[in-house]
Amino acid sequence: MKQSQTLLPTLKEVPADADIKSHQLLLRAGFIRQTASGVYSFLPLGKKVLRKVEEIVREEMDQAGANEMFMPALQPVELWKETGRWDNFGPELMRLHDRHNREFALGATHEEVITSIVRDEINSYKKLPLMLYQIQTKFRDEKRPRFGLLRGREFIMKDAYSFHDSFESLDESYAKMYQAYGNVFRRCGLNFRAVIADSGAMGGKDTHEFMVLSEVGEDTIAYSDTSDYAANIEMAPVISEYVKKDDSSKALEKVETPNQKTMQEVADYLGHELAEGLKSLMFKIDEKFVLVITRGDHEVNDIKLKNYYNADHVELATEEETKSLIGAGFGSLGPIGVSDQVEVIADHAVKFAVNVSCGANEDGYHYVNANPDRDFTIDTYADLRFIKEGDPSPDGNGTIKFAKGIEVGHVFKLGQFYAKKMGASYLDDQGKSNTMVMGCYGIGVSRTLAAIVEQFHDEKGITWPQAVAPFHVHLLTINAKKDDQRELGDQLYEILKNAGIEVLYDDRKERAGVKFADSDLIGIPYRITVGKRAEEGYVEFKHRSTGEQIELHQSELIKKLN
Ligand code: ATP
Ligand code: MG
Ligand code: MG
Ligand code: MG
Repeated sequence: MKQSQTLLPTLKEVPADADIKSHQLLLRAGFIRQTASGVYSFLPLGKKVLRKVEEIVREEMDQAGANEMFMPALQPVELWKETGRWDNFGPELMRLHDRHNREFALGATHEEVITSIVRDEINSYKKLPLMLYQIQTKFRDEKRPRFGLLRGREFIMKDAYSFHDSFESLDESYAKMYQAYGNVFRRCGLNFRAVIADSGAMGGKDTHEFMVLSEVGEDTIAYSDTSDYAANIEMAPVISEYVKKDDSSKALEKVETPNQKTMQEVADYLGHELAEGLKSLMFKIDEKFVLVITRGDHEVNDIKLKNYYNADHVELATEEETKSLIGAGFGSLGPIGVSDQVEVIADHAVKFAVNVSCGANEDGYHYVNANPDRDFTIDTYADLRFIKEGDPSPDGNGTIKFAKGIEVGHVFKLGQFYAKKMGASYLDDQGKSNTMVMGCYGIGVSRTLAAIVEQFHDEKGITWPQAVAPFHVHLLTINAKKDDQRELGDQLYEILKNAGIEVLYDDRKERAGVKFADSDLIGIPYRITVGKRAEEGYVEFKHRSTGEQIELHQSELIKKLN
């Protein structure tokens, strides 16, 4: 590609609304432009990198046994109604009407579409397992689109779906995908961790996120300093149920709780911020009462709970109901409005929240009539929500450290949620009809591109790893007006191209300083500069990330690059 003939608009100044390095550098180096909030155009170099990342993803998916297909972004309301997600997905789902006033969604994800296809086409265990994927544009009306490609409203995702005749078969495919994901991110050069994740919103259980370690990451991960153990601290794998057993639980007795922490201990343990944000709420989910520790936005809460319980109806319990179940101390909280995320209920989580919220309660007697074993179930997994830096790692190896992470991938055992809702079944070897078991696996392709820039840049610009660089070589002439330089430049451009080396040729009649600055900004791994010694056939060969440079005769170039 010749720089004089492409669209590669570099910027000297840092764009005002770009807060993080990847956003700034991708704009400045001319890879992307914003078209609307959270909506980006990929310019020629941006598209090149995107394709490289996509190609790595494709190779690894194919290797794992998945087959590529392509599904529509435009999806009819009927499919989304089948799973209940038309009502449950919330405002992130982009919705529109056609000219006949029929409703559609723009695909935020494709479980509905793929499940409808597979249910119609596959009916025998002999055709299972089946793994399918696509690389496609996704739409999510994010509340806060930001950080450029990291959180867009239109973005590129690889989404894969697997269909099985047993949970064991799902486990096998999940393991393959997990492996493939590691390969993808390793090949992209990324420093990442696979972490245990929150399965709250989708109703499944086993799930991992792939997190690129970065200060600008929006997730916090807790990892062991000596083992592979790592978890997203936002994980909420199990919401324990507070099940009303009999009338005796209406009595407002005090129940002793010997492991009770004091308010101060709780605040110290959780950290002030966390303690402030937490709220305990009693929800009525269909016929059950569930005590939930929550933060933030109520709408999301309802959706998560609905999905988790596969419930038709979720509402906050009234103050009376709450009181009758837990007692006056807790009930005095009343139904509190807003919360963002459904958090876990573990034994001590409940105690903490009750303590934090009801300072008036007496220490040691907060579980008024709510006995953990008798009245609600506990999953100790959930304790992770309250893990702290310096704690022993739950796997017994090493000490917990915290880091910020960018979620670039997510693998998920969906189980039978979608298959049940949409009637995806198969006949087993006895001719009996069973519900399929599913997994889903996403990679944020455009987010990965930005995450690479977060990890690969210096003060001058981007330093692309070879595997995803838009070109391998940046060829430039110091003075394109000089015949010898231009001639050697043109000649090398052809030689390199013919040798199969991807080369960007800066043939512009710009000042050398401008060309070097642009070249550093763009960040192609190798730079060949044709300058003073052009007539003798000597060029300068420079490595972008190390800064190492040597003089070489042009005849040695191909060998050097191979
Ligand atoms: P996040 O927690 O960042 O909102 P998510 O958990 O909602 O992401 P998934 O539903 O797991 O996202 O989608 C699969 C992948 O798609 C994510 O792991 C991420 O890499 C990517 N992705 C999700 N939302 C966005 C977005 N708004 N912009 C860019 N990539 C995204
Ligand atoms: Mg999201
Ligand atoms: Mg997430
Ligand atoms: Mg996710």
